[in-house]
Amino acid sequence: HLVPYIEAEKQVGERGSGNGRRSAGRIVMATVKGDVHDIGKNFVGVVLGCNDYEVIDLGVMVPWPRILETAREQEADLIGLSGLITPSLEEMRTVATEMEREGFTIPLLIGGATTSRAHTAVKIEPCYSGPVVHVQDASRAVGVASALVDAAQRDAFMVRTRAEYAVVRSDHEGRDRTIRRLTIDEARANRTRLDWSSTPPRPVALGVTTIPDQPLADLVDRIDWGPFFTTWELAGRYPQILDDPRVGSAARSLFEDAQGMLRRVVDERLLRADGVVGFWPAASTLDDDIELYEDESRTRVVARIHTLRQQMAKPDGRPNVALSDYVAPPGSAADDFIGAFAVTTGIGLDEARATFVAAHDDYSAILITALADRLAEAFAETLHERVRRELWGYAPDEALDNEALIAERYQGIRPAPGYPACPDHTEKRTIFDLLGAEERVGMSLTESMAMLPASSVSGLYFWHPQARYFGLGRIGRDQLEDYARRKGWTLDKARRWLAPNIADDA
Ligand code: SAH
Repeated sequence: HLVPYIEAEKQVGERGSGNGRRSAGRIVMATVKGDVHDIGKNFVGVVLGCNDYEVIDLGVMVPWPRILETAREQEADLIGLSGLITPSLEEMRTVATEMEREGFTIPLLIGGATTSRAHTAVKIEPCYSGPVVHVQDASRAVGVASALVDAAQRDAFMVRTRAEYAVVRSDHEGRDRTIRRLTIDEARANRTRLDWSSTPPRPVALGVTTIPDQPLADLVDRIDWGPFFTTWELAGRYPQILDDPRVGSAARSLFEDAQGMLRRVVDERLLRADGVVGFWPAASTLDDDIELYEDESRTRVVARIHTLRQQMAKPDGRPNVALSDYVAPPGSAADDFIGAFAVTTGIGLDEARATFVAAHDDYSAILITALADRLAEAFAETLHERVRRELWGYAPDEALDNEALIAERYQGIRPAPGYPACPDHTEKRTIFDLLGAEERVGMSLTESMAMLPASSVSGLYFWHPQARYFGLGRIGRDQLEDYARRKGWTLDKARRWLAPNIADDA
């Protein structure tokens, strides 16, 4: 409501009538190239805007030359970068390096879910000699920005921050070297050994199935609300959070608004949900890949999934896991299968958001984006349930409520590339090609392997009852080289894509 008045007042000021105000500072903000996630950035934008900062928001997927050009042209006081997926961490380094090369001196703020103080201190600060500060969440943005813009505070603030980051760096250097790692051969020798003596369940729907226009009303009941409140920086478990003495009333009013928005989304069909799912005969290889076959003759390989194996030394006989352990190996008598899926609930989101933004309703724009993300996860959950009961059909009598589903009390897993068990985002390319996700439902991947439309989920299905989610941890030089060979990559390329998971001495 107030924005048009504030803008008008600023324009009067710019025309030099003398009674205009100066803003607290001018910030150029962007989600970096290859990344499409902007909820966090938009929160920061709103919070800074409310505190009298002039926010020049370049949107998502912004290449560094545009960020730097805009900052120069607009004489920005600050640059703020945001990103969600891990490849964006590398892109942020590039932006910092280019700022250095072009002689920038203005502060650089770093934010977004996978960013951290450690990453900022270790990977970004060394690339840029101007101030670099990690902003933990939107609530800290104003504090950080004002400390940096105000000449009286800036030096002291930066002396403190640089000292803190130096400590973070030296702690970090020590820590990784204390972890004992196995060689990749030793780790493979300690793989998960599953019993393959019984016949794996054969998917009812071998091949690819498109699921067009999944009714949104069915997805609403499957929403996991916990992460929704986290998105809004409200801490606590759902549903208890609604009665929390501190944040309960905020959580409750947000939840009511969310219900209202969901009704609009469903009734006015503001979003559309499409998905695609497929199953193939498959076998694992001795070097941690999974071969997918064209048909049940199992002669022609149509795709190869590459997985990574844990290399940390394990206590008490626990295995060094790779996802390939969950598919029957070549020597076994078992004819095994694997599944893949890609779902989106983001069709129509850009249009809906644009309508809200045009009406100066930033709140609704962020709300519908956060809800579209929740619906995408709910779609993944619903589809997985259907897979177990019907499309793969190995658990036809399963009947679990939402709580049990969120707690993963079902048989099998659906790991998603980019998450801890399979951090290589490029495996999404293989999944998308297998499923024909682009042709069938119009889903695509950016150069950093973010999915478009935003609000999408993709992954693999493993049926084995002992299949578990896990974290890969860091890998050594030997596995890095082996993985590069299997992917047909140069070592440099492997280093770039796997950066967050590479041991310091690799
Ligand atoms: N119920 C939550 C799920 C969040 S995790 C929600 O609604 O947000 C999102 C997805 O990541 C999961 O559905 C699963 O596909 C995948 N996932 C979770 N843990 C994983 C791990 N350790 N490795 C790989 N994928 C994982």
